[in-house]
Amino acid sequence: MDKLVSLCKRKGFIFQSSSIYGGVNGCWDFGPLGVELKRNLKDDWWYVFVQQRDDMVGLDASIIMHPDVWVASGHVEAFHDMLTDCKDCKKRYRADHLETENCPECGGELTEPKAFNSMLRTQLGVSEDTAVNTYLRPETCQSIFVDFKEIYSSTRVKVPFGIAQVGKSFRNEVNPRNFIFRSREFEQMEIEFFCREAEEEEWFARWQKDIWQWYLDIGLSEDKLRWYEHPKESLAHYSKRTVDVEYDFPFGWGELQGLANRGTFDLTAHSKKSGKDLSFFDQESNERFIPTVLEPSAGADRATLAVLCDAYCEEEVPAGKDGKTETRTVMRFAPQLAPIKAAVLPLVKKEGLAEIAQDLERTLRKKFNTYYDHAGAIGRRYRRQDEIGTPFCICVDFDTKEDETVTIRERDSMEQVRIPMAEVSDYIGKRVSHERD
Ligand code: ATP
Repeated sequence: MDKLVSLCKRKGFIFQSSSIYGGVNGCWDFGPLGVELKRNLKDDWWYVFVQQRDDMVGLDASIIMHPDVWVASGHVEAFHDMLTDCKDCKKRYRADHLETENCPECGGELTEPKAFNSMLRTQLGVSEDTAVNTYLRPETCQSIFVDFKEIYSSTRVKVPFGIAQVGKSFRNEVNPRNFIFRSREFEQMEIEFFCREAEEEEWFARWQKDIWQWYLDIGLSEDKLRWYEHPKESLAHYSKRTVDVEYDFPFGWGELQGLANRGTFDLTAHSKKSGKDLSFFDQESNERFIPTVLEPSAGADRATLAVLCDAYCEEEVPAGKDGKTETRTVMRFAPQLAPIKAAVLPLVKKEGLAEIAQDLERTLRKKFNTYYDHAGAIGRRYRRQDEIGTPFCICVDFDTKEDETVTIRERDSMEQVRIPMAEVSDYIGKRVSHERD
């Protein structure tokens, strides 16, 4: 983990927020490469779960909602962590995260746990006496329930169908830790899938299959993934059944995403609190009913962290001609997620090669993210690209001037092929796109 965190900082993937002021615990900034990686991951998710399906529509709702939303959802009442303090060193812990009866830091005695609401409070309005207290949303899904009727009556969707949303959520986590795994500000990729109760098990199984496949497609190793079924007695207040996908991080197994059967809890609760009917009317069967909701709820930051952990690889490769080796660090990102898809490198800067390479890079840039680099020996430039996970390096050499061909070096195998310069865009474009067969 330390090596990965240091690579992320050194190469501009992820930094701590406000670090020049000492940082903010649990808040992170995605730098130039991190923003591309996370954006590619979210785009891939949207491509697979929204764009490619004819039973899904999207939403981008506001982060701040009416305070009553959080009363109806049960968050004001039940979104609590039980906290305990060490009487000696004053450190604070979540009681359910402790494995010992005493302070894990100093062994001191702990206080009785007390409830602490983990929603982040804010105030809406400028005047002291009229400002309204509300919260930054702790999950993206509530706006989907609240907008349910607006969405189904403004589109032609029919149950079964889903609504997807990607966006920021906020939780005042007691102990933010494990890099971006547990943050106070993070992004969720959530779907609420509305179906008939009679079909809930069939849909639940289909969602399990689709979710699993997506994690494989974004490059996670199958032996580092597993399902965890929540026992009945520890289910959240809204859930009939919940399973989590867990990933084997360097710090242990951790939840990547949940899949919950929320039944009719949310639509019923918001209908009651708002006084607005949120049932669905099926014109074909002339039936009115509150649909059952299945919720695949994923975290974009946790998925990004899993991708970074799975991609990180150190290997011995030949260096020079006398049998020596060197260690190369390579980020084996799935090509559709790689921040930079191709680097264009002239063998030398002189003799017109730099100009040809720059022209080629400008053309490719229109289609995907590229990088131009002429500084240092070609081997070192390949290594720099390996370290940030660029799947293809294009080398412009003296033959290019003669026959307009270039070599393309593939990151993982380090094999090189020679192809006409005019075919490079198609050759790489096909291999880095989100498209699936
Ligand atoms: P945990 O038990 O780890 O606190 P949770 O069960 O409360 O997570 P959910 O409410 O099911 O999480 O949220 C759905 C998804 O949102 C999680 O699977 C995770 O990917 C992401 N998520 C939740 N809390 C955080 C957080 N503090 N930091 C980063 N991602 C989070």
